[in-house]
Amino acid sequence: MRICNTASCFVIDSRGRILLIKHAKLGMWLPPGGHVDESETACYTAIRETREETGLDVKLIQKPPLVWNNTRMRSAAAPFATTLHRADYGDNVHYHYNLCFMARVNGTKRVRPERNEVDDYGWFTTKEILSMAGVPHDVKIIVSERIPETLLSRSRR
Ligand SMILES: [Zn+2]
Repeated sequence: MRICNTASCFVIDSRGRILLIKHAKLGMWLPPGGHVDESETACYTAIRETREETGLDVKLIQKPPLVWNNTRMRSAAAPFATTLHRADYGDNVHYHYNLCFMARVNGTKRVRPERNEVDDYGWFTTKEILSMAGVPHDVKIIVSERIPETLLSRSRR
């Protein structure tokens, strides 16, 4: 079975809501993300895919921090969670070893979805995501158990 390296970006707004997009091909609500290209780090994939799919410029949140060694590369960050899931594109079924990153929006918050890949989008609270249809189980686990409460609690202020 083929396995791809992929990256997801959980973008959190100032009210503690999370951005999900409705993936056109898969028909599911997911964080922005995609396949890691050969010449990039997975954290760069998270930033690039978010820009391509939503038009948003994001800055990754470093939790936990990356440990550096012998590099000047500055466009690197550590994932806060890892998932493994089956990707079913009908005639193309394979697995994704997916690294999850958290991010804040840099600059404008206006989403400009890529209409070929994205059917819809929205900013959702954890509670809303847990009750939504079409959100994969692993995404529900990540938002309810892995994203630090301090990043989400702003929604209550
Ligand atoms: Zn894939």
